[in-house]
Amino acid sequence: MVKELIQKKGSTMRQPVVKSIYLFLFSFFWFCHTNAQQENLEIYWIDVEGGAATLIVTPDRQVVLMDAGFQRDDGRDSGRIMAAMKDAGVTEIDYFLASHFHGDHVGGLSSLSANVSIKEFIDHGDSVEQDSERRRADWESYLSIVEGARRSVAAGDQLSLEGIDFTFVTSNGEIFSKELPGIKPNPHCSGAPSGDDDSGENSRSLGYLLSLGKFQFLNLGDLTFNVQHKLACPQYELGSVDIFQVPRHGNAVALQFSTAVNPTVAVLNNGPRKGGSASGSDALKVIPDLEAVWQLHRALGLDDHHNASTQMTANLTEENDAGYWIKAVVQEDGMRYELVNQRNHFSRLYMSK
Ligand SMILES: [Zn+2]
Repeated sequence: MVKELIQKKGSTMRQPVVKSIYLFLFSFFWFCHTNAQQENLEIYWIDVEGGAATLIVTPDRQVVLMDAGFQRDDGRDSGRIMAAMKDAGVTEIDYFLASHFHGDHVGGLSSLSANVSIKEFIDHGDSVEQDSERRRADWESYLSIVEGARRSVAAGDQLSLEGIDFTFVTSNGEIFSKELPGIKPNPHCSGAPSGDDDSGENSRSLGYLLSLGKFQFLNLGDLTFNVQHKLACPQYELGSVDIFQVPRHGNAVALQFSTAVNPTVAVLNNGPRKGGSASGSDALKVIPDLEAVWQLHRALGLDDHHNASTQMTANLTEENDAGYWIKAVVQEDGMRYELVNQRNHFSRLYMSK
């Protein structure tokens, strides 16, 4: 039947038709397979209303969580993290990664750690922002939670995960490079602004590159322009990726960096009124290989042109809605991956580069 259908089409239509049929059939059979066995890599972008919480569950069911959303008396964000863990069928966390020490990233850790066993806590080193009573209290709270199970890592260090290459590519303002053979200068560096001389917590964000076979996922927390520039120029050495969690909730990405990272899919962990800026959206539009933008929230202050499609947006209304997640399911050999919107069950399959 597939052959017949192809023969009826003109030669110019053949490739897209074959690709569509192939992706449809593969998606169907893979869906049946993924429901029968949990052997895939799963990534959840959990809605913490403009904070961050990205959960990774490996094919061997090892669990990594970067960031835990906000501190709230009602435990909203830790509750949403636990709901995603339940969906993935896991009950404890092997590694908690603090990208940096702002309240939208580590605020929810006290509630989470009171309810979930966390084996090890990893960070970029001590907080450099302890300039107010509130921030000192937050920092001391973090230290009391992680006591005896804390490790600070440098760019280039790795996380031990079965079958997964997981490298910290930024930490404490420093960067790691792979020094790929035959690397060329980045053409977008010429005349590009190098960013403010920012040395605060955002600039020190712990960032990682996760690889499973051909599949690559890059998450850099709230990394600032100046360190993005350092990664991108004069040449970018980490290689292009499949999924890119856009830094600072989609608010700020340097063009010389986004074009070099050249993802197929960009994910924004924005809130209804936090992250997801027009300039951030414009910097994504020029990415050569970009096929789709997925957002945790519609950015309510922006027009359609600067928002992802409704299908690929998990939450459409104001804060404290249902808190739907976006999930990526990566085939165990890393060849293909599917993104799913929990709200409407819309999904799309992509091929790894
Ligand atoms: Zn943030």
